[in-house]
Amino acid sequence: MSKKKIRKLLIGTNNKGKLREIRNLLPKEIKIFSTAKFNLKSPRETGKTFEQNSLIKSKYFSKKSNLICLADDSGLEIDILNKRPGVKSARWGGTKGDFNKAIKRVYKELDKIDKNWKEKKIKARFICALSIFNLKKKIACVIGKVEGTISKEPKGFNGFGYDPIFIPNKSNLTFGQMKPAKKYKLDHRYNAFKKIKKFF
Ligand code: IMP
Repeated sequence: MSKKKIRKLLIGTNNKGKLREIRNLLPKEIKIFSTAKFNLKSPRETGKTFEQNSLIKSKYFSKKSNLICLADDSGLEIDILNKRPGVKSARWGGTKGDFNKAIKRVYKELDKIDKNWKEKKIKARFICALSIFNLKKKIACVIGKVEGTISKEPKGFNGFGYDPIFIPNKSNLTFGQMKPAKKYKLDHRYNAFKKIKKFF
């Protein structure tokens, strides 16, 4: 493993919400490239775990761009839904990545499992696997989590994805209600990033 700090990096995501967050975590002196610059579509996520899918992305984007790539695979696990949507979190939004649709599906699935779910604490967590690939060589793959509960209704307009329905522990606000700077300092991506920031 090279001890040299990474100074040039492709962020391997086509998700604007993730791109914004990851940019914010990285030191300002790193030259950052996005997948849009290379006109790259995302590879098929055929893995069964967040780690596997993260590595599929970082390897693919690194090979296509000839750059070191940092990629994220993330999602929401809801305990009483057997940890669904999990690695399929993006797919619950359909082909157009419609987050309202994904949130409606969560509520529908909760209703199916337990009509009284709103009277209970519905435990959930966001998980993020961050990986770094340098062409064919894996440099790192780490996991970060944030524990919380599902809100009885969507609240707030900040962030992306399932942010309006996720309340992290020790807070009364959903991620969607929080100021982005606050969310970025306590979420799954930040917790994963802390484990690999030595490379930057
Ligand atoms: P993927 O990693 O591209 O498979 O997509 C992960 C999906 O999980 C996103 O499209 C979002 O729906 C959801 N997700 C991941 N991280 C977050 C987050 O920080 N807030 C809200 N939703 C998220």
